[in-house]
Formats: sequence, structure tokens, C-alpha cells
Amino acid sequence: MPYCTVCKQYADYEYDMMLSNGEHLHSSCLIKLQMRSDEIEVALRRQSSQLILSLFARAKVADGEVASEDEVERLSSELTKLKNTLTAIYDFLPSWPPDWHERKGYLIQQNGSICSSCGEEGDVYLVHEIPLCEDGTNELDNLELICKPCYESMHGPGDIFSSFTLNSSQSEFAPQVKEIQSAIKNNWRIQFDYKKPKAKTWMTRVVIPERLLNIPNSRESGQTLCVEGFCELRQDIRVFALERMQDLELIDY
Ligand SMILES: [Zn+2]
Ligand SMILES: [Zn+2]
Repeated sequence: MPYCTVCKQYADYEYDMMLSNGEHLHSSCLIKLQMRSDEIEVALRRQSSQLILSLFARAKVADGEVASEDEVERLSSELTKLKNTLTAIYDFLPSWPPDWHERKGYLIQQNGSICSSCGEEGDVYLVHEIPLCEDGTNELDNLELICKPCYESMHGPGDIFSSFTLNSSQSEFAPQVKEIQSAIKNNWRIQFDYKKPKAKTWMTRVVIPERLLNIPNSRESGQTLCVEGFCELRQDIRVFALERMQDLELIDY
């Protein structure tokens, strides 16, 4: 049985996230961590601006408006722990992580804005060495900086985030993939009937698709082709397997 790596409670195969290292995660647990981290950052920012203000104005800040030094220290260490936990989760997220730009910034700081393929300095993309759809992770050692000409000579022209290739056993899904890609590009919603693994009935879902991804599975096929997007029924980001969909339609706004 799968358990959530954060809260150690039971996780549902269908509705929870599976990380690329095989661990499971409640999307609600991830959101709670992210919200707590945002909350602390805001509190610490407010604290430092209050301090600066009181220095300049020589104003006496009322008790309770500014957290004590102990409180700041406690919040800062909680924030560091949270960031470490989040980074470890983002490393194995089966999609692009929210801290993608920080990861890019870190690599540029370490190695300069230099293309790892041709060695030229200039504008660079951050890309996965082993792509996400082939079980690549977001760990720093699987990321590299590539210039636009090198990227395009490898993958053909186009937007870096829209590139998604089906593996040979998934060719039956090509028409749906094409439709979903055009929905993503045009900000359209998709509607489809969906059947959960043990469910007897189909339910109609309306989803704003964000990306296609291949999630590793333990069956012979090795990967499950999924679309990730905002589900209007659940009011949350969900992942849907294409093999459990039927009657896919595009809805424009
Ligand atoms: Zn959990
Ligand atoms: Zn290059």
C-alpha cells in the first residue's frame, strides 16, 4: 500500500502524486508545506522592513508588532527545514518543479551562462539531460544549460515546454495527445469521460490541461501516459491517465 512521504498516511494511487523515485505524496500535503513556507517568508519580510523603518524613524515599535529575536530565529530555522523538504520533493516531481528558475539561477551562478553543448556564452535554457518522460529527475545533476541554437538542433524549433514525445508503445494515443497539446497551447479546456481503476461508472471531467507526462508504473508498459491539469470537479491539480479516458473533446472559452 502506498503511503504519503510527508504525513506517512495512506495515499490513493489515483488521486495522489507519485514521485519519480517511486514515493507517493498527497497533493494536499505538498500544498500545506508550500503555504507554510510562503507564510514564514512573508512574516520574515515584514519583520525586516519593520526593523529598518524603526531605525530610520527612530520610532518605538509597539510590542507585538515585531516578532522577538527568538521568534525570528525559530521561523528562519523552520523555513530552512521546509525549503530542504520541498527541494527534496521537487527533485523527484514528475513535472517541472516550481523552483525551476532558482535551479537555473544556481547553475548559472556555479558555471556561468555557458551552453554545455557548444561552450558558447549567452542566453541559455535549462533542460533535463534525461527527459522527465524517460524517468529523468529534476536533481541538479540531471539538469544542464543549453543555448537556443543547440536546443533547436537537438529538438527542432519550438517552445521548450511543449516538446513531448510518445514512446513507441503509446502510438495509439497520438490523436488524443495532439488534441491535448493544442488545448494547452490555446488555453482551452478538455472534457472527457473518466473511469478510475476500480470504479464501475464513467464520470465526465472538465480539465484545464497544463502538461503531458509519462509517469513510471510497475507494469510491462513501464510508463503511463498522463495529462496533468486543473480539474473543475475537484478544484485542484490532478493527473489523468489517457488509457482511462474516453470521448475526449476540446472546449474553448
Ligand atoms: Zn500526506
Ligand atoms: Zn550551444
